[in-house]
Amino acid sequence: MNAPAASADVRRSNLSLVLRYVDAHGPCARTEIAAATGLAHASVTAMVADLAERGLVEEAGAGAPGARGRPRRLLRVVHGRVWTVAVQVTHDMIKLRATDLSGATVHTDDRRHEAPFGDPEPAAREIALAVAGTVERAGSAQLGIMVIAVPGAVIDGKVGHAIGLGWRTTDLAALVNAHLPHVDCPVEVVNEANMAALAEYHALAAQGVAHPDTVVYATAHAGVGGCLIIGGRVHMGSHGMAGEIGHVPVSLDGPPCRCGAHGCLDTYVRLRALTRAAGIPEGTEESEAAARAELNRRLRAGDERARAALDTAGHALGAALLAVASVTDAGEAILGGHLVDWAPWLMPAIDARLAGRRTAIANVGFAVSTGVLGADATLRGVVHVGREHVLATPTLVPVSTPPGVGS
Ligand SMILES: [Zn+2]
Repeated sequence: MNAPAASADVRRSNLSLVLRYVDAHGPCARTEIAAATGLAHASVTAMVADLAERGLVEEAGAGAPGARGRPRRLLRVVHGRVWTVAVQVTHDMIKLRATDLSGATVHTDDRRHEAPFGDPEPAAREIALAVAGTVERAGSAQLGIMVIAVPGAVIDGKVGHAIGLGWRTTDLAALVNAHLPHVDCPVEVVNEANMAALAEYHALAAQGVAHPDTVVYATAHAGVGGCLIIGGRVHMGSHGMAGEIGHVPVSLDGPPCRCGAHGCLDTYVRLRALTRAAGIPEGTEESEAAARAELNRRLRAGDERARAALDTAGHALGAALLAVASVTDAGEAILGGHLVDWAPWLMPAIDARLAGRRTAIANVGFAVSTGVLGADATLRGVVHVGREHVLATPTLVPVSTPPGVGS
């Protein structure tokens, strides 16, 4: 890295350090920031001036007098200055949630996208329309970043393959940007299961769950997705596709899978496989929610075919978790999505599959937790990532006030 680039990097990282501190501890004084961050007082003063010019921090009155007897001017984050836009693409919906820097929701927009299988353009157009509406609402607030979660593998920022949508090698960010020539805001495309996994991971930690180093996340909606979290971070793998547990083969001669292989976990746990095994009549994609409700009703009523379907799915899921644990030494699995509702009927079979590993190797535990966020998990994760991006890169927000204010 050349010297100017390195220096810009140091400046961005110091700006982020100061912004994060004020975000977590404000209102606070410059002396407090210097003591806590280890930055020189003059450097803190310069960083605060820069953040104030960007409209990210402001004066918040006077605190108790400092060592020299002068009242200390306090600082706080201007939460409304930046909105982050979180978008979730499902097989039929666009869900948008805009949040301010405090994480509070300031605008939502849910709409159907009517994109035919294999064609991302109608979905990109609906995302752009929702974002344009958000820009109108935002007024003087800056759009810091747009993060779009898709149900598919994301490779180098592009949707590599979204099986359920029929998208292959799709530059969704470019398709959306083409409709938004006047919106200057970075766009990041991410995998939805990774976002839900992160959100559930943090929500469970907040409830006191002590996660081990390596955690595997498995979720089911229309299909089965997953994620691998190592040391609190999503492990991306060589191509951004790590943790795709849905396509772990659990049977050598199992049913053909949409991915081209045979016997994948997805072929046993996806909703259609379960409803078919339970004897629930095939419906259209639109009736997915009705089919799931019927399956859940039969499970609660003790219907034998429904429970047998879930038992088979539990064995498949247990086998896949065992495979992942064997390769990665994961110490915990988090179940998300519909798997949470089905956990009472899946768990006996999962436990049966894991029993060998749990008893054969002394002191090697493998806990199975269920998610707590429900259908909200993905968007919560996307909001978290968007906010983190702004806190890490305050230079995303342009200078808005004349130099000198706040120095
Ligand atoms: Zn597969």
